[in-house]
Amino acid sequence: MSLMFPTAPASPSPRLRIATCSLAGCFGCHMSLLDIDETLADLVDLITFDRSPFTDVKALSEDGIDIGLIEGGLCNEENVEVLRAFRARCRVLVAVGACAMYGGVPALRNGIPVAELMQTAYLADGLHDPQLPRDPELPPLLDKVLPVHEVVPVDLTLPGCPPPADAFRALVLAEIARRTPDIATELPLHARRFD
Ligand code: SF4
Repeated sequence: MSLMFPTAPASPSPRLRIATCSLAGCFGCHMSLLDIDETLADLVDLITFDRSPFTDVKALSEDGIDIGLIEGGLCNEENVEVLRAFRARCRVLVAVGACAMYGGVPALRNGIPVAELMQTAYLADGLHDPQLPRDPELPPLLDKVLPVHEVVPVDLTLPGCPPPADAFRALVLAEIARRTPDIATELPLHARRFD
């Protein structure tokens, strides 16, 4: 699998520029990234975080992103829009966790028609003032929750729910060294568990 995505330029900064984003996910993958603990301090002069819940930066830098970490699948039209914009700016796009790779827990709804889901959630007997949400700012649901690779090309995957912190560490260290990480073999034995 190639690390290079030719339509997105690398950041000109000597620091590795990392952005993270959550679509239909639970932020557990983001928490696992934070679990690399003291390694973050070791990397402070080598990486910089761009758009991410960690920075509260909402827009991607014009400078280009080296690694974009995407958590979660796509459950609505806004997710698709956000993902496409993210992909266009990232040199390496990483699908992080079971939701981004397969749809994960949110995809459990895929066997049920959306109209039936809405009926159950908002119009079921016994609800007070049952009505469908109709605020125009609410993005329409997709028919099915999609994994990231069904909408844009993905360069790397970090499996797990969530992936272990050591997998994030191995990925970042390999990227700093400008080489393709082999997550399966670079992890210590205790971290080779992706459930
Ligand atoms: S893969 Fe697991 S931890 Fe990550 S967003 Fe999905 S449910 Fe949460």
